[in-house]
Amino acid sequence: MRILLVEDDVLLGDGLRTGLAQAGCTVDWVRDGVAADTALLAEHYAAVVLDWGLPRRDGLSLIRGLRQRRNATPVLMLTARDALEDRISGLDAGADDYLVKPVAIAELAARLRALVRRSAGRSEPVYRHGILALDPAKRRTTLGDKPLELSTREFDLLALLIAQPERPVSREQIENALYGWGEEVESNAIEVHVHHLRKKLGSDWIKTLRGVGYLLDPSKAQDKAP
Ligand code: CA
Repeated sequence: MRILLVEDDVLLGDGLRTGLAQAGCTVDWVRDGVAADTALLAEHYAAVVLDWGLPRRDGLSLIRGLRQRRNATPVLMLTARDALEDRISGLDAGADDYLVKPVAIAELAARLRALVRRSAGRSEPVYRHGILALDPAKRRTTLGDKPLELSTREFDLLALLIAQPERPVSREQIENALYGWGEEVESNAIEVHVHHLRKKLGSDWIKTLRGVGYLLDPSKAQDKAP
């Protein structure tokens, strides 16, 4: 999932970016509130990790602007230990969760997964489509009782498809979710990932809708594991 990280402290931001990337997130990092707002206007993120004290525009003003324009992207704020007032005003202004610094990466990643799950209206942490199961926390995929070995991009692509099984996912949405800023995307990269996924899953699992995008075969949703 693609995350916007907003943190002006270079050391902390670098640590968070590295940790979140290791947890399987695609991370875009900006260091002030104005750049964060620009990024949020331009891109679609699964969630935002938002430091509260920021240059140029603070977290509270940022989140108010975001919610005013009906942008519902889940926001997790990072605050100082003694900043109870910030946490209250932040939650009331539309933040979805908070963590007190210093942050444990494993907890941050778990909270982000929970926020994304809830924002999609799901309670079950493991995605299922018939006999296919995908666990975002363990980054594990199984087909029936058989584990699948997927690359990071293949896993992220399948996570995107299984998260919205009734709606096709466009190439643009896939590129947006799998690649952060500054990452080179080969013109046929998405087709290549789909090709590899089909080889591992079985060729009939992923349908291509010409000019629209990709979709998990709806007829497989009802299949039960043996
Ligand atoms: Ca700060």
